[in-house]
Amino acid sequence: MSRNVIVIGGVALGPKAASRLKRLDPTANVTMIDENINISFGGCGIPYYVSGEINSLDALRSTTYGTVRTPEYFEHKGVHTLNQTRVTAIDRASKTVTAKNLVTGEEKALPYDRLIIATGSTPKVPPVEGRDLKNVGGANNLEDADALRKACASGSVQNAVVIGAGFIGMEIAVALADMWDIKTSVVEFMPQAMPGVMSASLSDMVRHDLEEHNVDVYTGEKVQRLEGENGVVARVVTDKRTLDADLVIFATGFAPNTALARAAGLDLEERTGAILVNEYMQTSDPDIYAGGDCVAIPNLITGKPFVLALGSLANRQGRVIGTNAASDDGKAAAFHGAVGTWCVKIFKMSACGTGLTIERAKAFGFDAISASLEQLDRAHFYPEKHMMTLELVVERNPTRARHSGRVRRRRRPQGPHRRRGDHAPVRQAHHRRSRQCRNRLCPALRLRNGRRKRRGQRGRQHPLRPAQAHFFQGIRRTLEGSRQQ
Ligand SMILES: Cc1cc2nc3c(=O)[nH]c(=O)nc-3n(C[C@H](O)[C@H](O)[C@H](O)COP(=O)(O)OP(=O)(O)OC[C@H]3O[C@@H](n4cnc5c(N)ncnc54)[C@H](O)[C@@H]3O)c2cc1C
Repeated sequence: MSRNVIVIGGVALGPKAASRLKRLDPTANVTMIDENINISFGGCGIPYYVSGEINSLDALRSTTYGTVRTPEYFEHKGVHTLNQTRVTAIDRASKTVTAKNLVTGEEKALPYDRLIIATGSTPKVPPVEGRDLKNVGGANNLEDADALRKACASGSVQNAVVIGAGFIGMEIAVALADMWDIKTSVVEFMPQAMPGVMSASLSDMVRHDLEEHNVDVYTGEKVQRLEGENGVVARVVTDKRTLDADLVIFATGFAPNTALARAAGLDLEERTGAILVNEYMQTSDPDIYAGGDCVAIPNLITGKPFVLALGSLANRQGRVIGTNAASDDGKAAAFHGAVGTWCVKIFKMSACGTGLTIERAKAFGFDAISASLEQLDRAHFYPEKHMMTLELVVERNPTRARHSGRVRRRRRPQGPHRRRGDHAPVRQAHHRRSRQCRNRLCPALRLRNGRRKRRGQRGRQHPLRPAQAHFFQGIRRTLEGSRQQ
């Protein structure tokens, strides 16, 4: 008999999982439900639509060949698609979801054999006075993107304030200042821009790039209220200054959207409220999968669950979920976790990272040290080349990690992942890591060491290309200096 699969959420993970499942099991009855009109779009393109680099909103929801991904497009693939429909409850006992059509108000109970939760995340907006004023919003979906672009194109915006200096705050600030020449300020509560993902010194370079292009960055400042005139925002008041603003954008982060999962009694991670899943992306109910922004995944360096709201990961997880939902035992593919890799374009600069910053590494109990280096991004004789600044974070005494037994014990994760035998992705990731790597803070080294081991070249130190070897000489010098102290 054909399987009934319901997918809640139709932006990144939902469509990926539904399409993959339908491809592997054409007999499955797949229904994808989303509360919005627009589905299956690339949120990553929103800043480029706002800036004008991308001309049409449809480009963000098109395939590589230009077909717009509408509900009809998915129907054609055999995925029954209900947009403007909200799932209001999951009944695990009767294996049904309640879906409410937001246009007609009609409610239906839909049965499932397997359920996929892809409800994503919701923007976190601090409860400051004035946030309901006109021209105050976010950059979270296609509707926001359209409203922002229209406001900029109308010529009525002279001063914009972006609240939050994370990835999205940075990209939106660049979009407003670069294309529309709007005087833009970024206000960040933490002491640096891009907090938590890069060191203070790299963050200073990003700040410099922004300030050189007419974007002011105010860090360590708390927004106290927004003031308006005739219902329209006019000023942002922080604890240190007042900024003129005819447009305010909150880019203050996201929280996993897990109200449905919580009400259905699924296990959630305590700290973030994200849904806990095993390596097959099954929740604590094996017939319910979850992935994307609403779940916690294992961090392959710390071994602890974390939330990483990235479309790239949602897509990878969607593929795993689609494969599993199509298989008989529901466990045909696995997703083991991530190290946290990101990249953001500023003006002249791009900033990228992977793994932990020195501060985070220390906070997680690693005896970590960092080294930085300036070097060309291409060979010195190549005509087009730029300087790049690299910063590497390593464990002070990497040889310790060879003793994987001891390491495993010390780093074995605590919490719900550990308690349930079925939910052991963190532990398994850790086993893999210990086999392969000598330095747990360095994914690049881990890869190389893994290869070296397979080739049986034990005993050789870093088998690196000359440019990398040059870089690691700097690191080695720093490490040696630190050991002598
Ligand atoms: C401006 C911006 C820039 C970004 N840039 C990047 C980037 O460069 N690289 C990158 O990797 N990622 C980027 N992201 C993040 C990326 O867009 C998200 O990580 C990704 O969309 C998450 O996919 P998801 O399917 O988990 O959830 P979402 O995309 O949040 O989709 C969830 C959907 O489910 C719907 N839903 C929720 N509850 C219900 C319910 N009860 N019933 C029906 N429908 C429901 C929601 O309305 C939503 O439409 C960016 C995001 C933004 C906003």
